[in-house]
Amino acid sequence: MNKYVIGNWKMNGSWEENSLLLNLLKNNINKSSKVKTVVCVPYPYLVQAKGLLLNSNISYGAQDLSTYNNGAYTGEVSAGMLADLGCKYVIVGHSERRIYFKESNELVANKTKIALQNNLTPIVCIGETLEQRQSNQTFNILEIQLKAILDELTNDQIPNIILAYEPIWAIGTGQSATKEQAQEVHNYLRKICLEYNKISPSILYGGSLKANNAQEIFAMQDIDGGLIGGASLIANEFLAISNSL
Ligand code: PEP
Repeated sequence: MNKYVIGNWKMNGSWEENSLLLNLLKNNINKSSKVKTVVCVPYPYLVQAKGLLLNSNISYGAQDLSTYNNGAYTGEVSAGMLADLGCKYVIVGHSERRIYFKESNELVANKTKIALQNNLTPIVCIGETLEQRQSNQTFNILEIQLKAILDELTNDQIPNIILAYEPIWAIGTGQSATKEQAQEVHNYLRKICLEYNKISPSILYGGSLKANNAQEIFAMQDIDGGLIGGASLIANEFLAISNSL
């Protein structure tokens, strides 16, 4: 099973800040580690990441993609364009896109398919709200979100995605899921994936992962790494998280 530590910069950064951060990451990453380290940066900085991460063992990707291939879709960025820029990864269906930009399960499934068709590895995010967790709907909601995607893929494609379990109540709140809560969900998601293909995709945890809680969460059997927001903007934190896997 591939292990990943993936940074989601969200809408943060500047040319100067990124240059500092990417150089620190590149120069201090553990080069013998088997962990795949990835940064998902805002579109305007993909070219910068491409240049600075050349010949490093850190990959870069985007945070979203269009469902269209090309044409009169002002403001959109296609999967083909991301691949052309050397991206290998793209985040799909982050809860911030589902909430603020009204992305549905169907749209997320479509974006996942389009990423795969363009040789991008989609990092597909699913997660429940606090209200859903408190009313014991977590497993039901996650099953709906996950199957909406898996049902649209061929079984052969399923191991080629990365799944990210990101409880919405844990994102940016400083309140991570406990290792037991995360493991319980990951095990459930793994079982669903294995109904489609005997090879499971990697399943990452995301939500307030920091250098001081990554190790215990990564030690859980069904957790294959992490998707990291806030802490991915701080070189030492992100490197420490990567070294915890
Ligand atoms: C995220 O946005 O994917 C995320 C996990 O954020 P944070 O680490 O800041 O909670």
